[in-house]
Amino acid sequence: MLIEENISLLPYNSFHIEARAKHFVSIADADQLGSILEKDDGKSQLVLGGGSNILFTRDVKGLVLKMDIRGITMVKENDSHIFVRAGAGENWHSFVRYAIGRNWAGLENLSLIPGSVGAAPIQNIGAYGVELKDVFYELEAYDRKNKKVYTFGLNDCAFGYRDSFFKSGEKNRYIILNVTFILNKTAVLNTSYGAIREELGQMDVRTPSIRSVSQAVINIRQSKLPDPAEIGNAGSFFKNPVVDQARFQSLSKDYPDMPAYPHEEGSVKLAAGWLIEQCGWKGYRKGDAGVHQRQALVLVNYGHATGKEIFDLGEEVAASVKKRFAVGLEREVNVW
Ligand code: FAD
Ligand code: NAP
Repeated sequence: MLIEENISLLPYNSFHIEARAKHFVSIADADQLGSILEKDDGKSQLVLGGGSNILFTRDVKGLVLKMDIRGITMVKENDSHIFVRAGAGENWHSFVRYAIGRNWAGLENLSLIPGSVGAAPIQNIGAYGVELKDVFYELEAYDRKNKKVYTFGLNDCAFGYRDSFFKSGEKNRYIILNVTFILNKTAVLNTSYGAIREELGQMDVRTPSIRSVSQAVINIRQSKLPDPAEIGNAGSFFKNPVVDQARFQSLSKDYPDMPAYPHEEGSVKLAAGWLIEQCGWKGYRKGDAGVHQRQALVLVNYGHATGKEIFDLGEEVAASVKKRFAVGLEREVNVW
């Protein structure tokens, strides 16, 4: 196991921010992790998957643990379901393709999300009406405090809207080693998002399948979202804000065209991208930091922006939304 020193993190984050790690190690199995963390005091450690949901505003003065635990195993099956375990370091979309290739249903709406399997539970990744929690069975995680591996079932993870126990409860305490999913042998397709139905129509698909829904999602994403290989970004910079009925009623009087979707317990989810666009930010650019031209929820690095510049732009955007709509935007991206 090689611990490297003074490593550039530029290739390891989709925002393409230049930051450095004092120490850097690639973790290929749980035993390696255990032996490193046995000695380490845990300070200034950063766990990194694909780096597609992180903004570096400073160097890492300690150790970066790059999760590279691989392997996909079918654990068990019954008449209706497949239980499949994937290592934290597996690429998310490769795992989705693996499942689709075997006709295992449930992951198709989550096609083409960048990053790793191990990070997926952190914010309960979601897209097009499906969230990780819908296909989650259990995970194993290393507890830095007690230096032991624990198993977490669905109820232990407190999954919420782009949120979990690992993001809000005990942030940074647990390192996810693997995740087990429960997938369907018979597809129950979710085409509740209009964009999917429209794309299936464009594709001339009359009877949707796991594959065609996945392809529709891929097509939409490729047409709307900046490819991190070309323009640095970490997807949605903010979460969609959730407001109560009273706040929604008052806002919709002033903004009858405002998109809004019913959320949990009578609350209403607003589209952060729309709010940002109304404030005039879409396509804005200051130096190399900008707000994407096609999706205002995505902040971008056109080349050499620093993490601080992107962060400051995010603050300005959130402040203007707060001023105009009296709605707070919470960052989705993890800031280091
Ligand atoms: P990283 O950025 O490496 O890490 C994210 C956080 O998780 C960090 O705090 C890190 O410390 C922690 N972490 C990583 N791995 C582990 C582990 N094994 N154990 C414990 N902690 C860990 N997200 C969505 O939900 N839906 C989308 O549709 C979506 N679309 C996106 C589109 C684009 C173009 C981009 C760039 C991003 C998008 N994202 C989306 C955000 C991102 O892809 C997800 O959040 C993804 O799960 C991040 O995975 P990662 O491995 O890159 O995580
Ligand atoms: P969109 O289709 O332009 O819609 C804007 C917002 O409205 C979305 O954020 C979505 O909320 C919400 N929405 C749309 N139709 C809905 C419906 N039928 N029911 C409930 N909510 C609805 O969004 P987009 O930016 O192109 O993204 C499409 C999907 O990919 C979304 O699910 C989005 O979350 C996901 N995505 C996520 C990221 C990320 O980094 N987190 C990046 C790109 C795309 P939700 O976000 O709650 O779904």
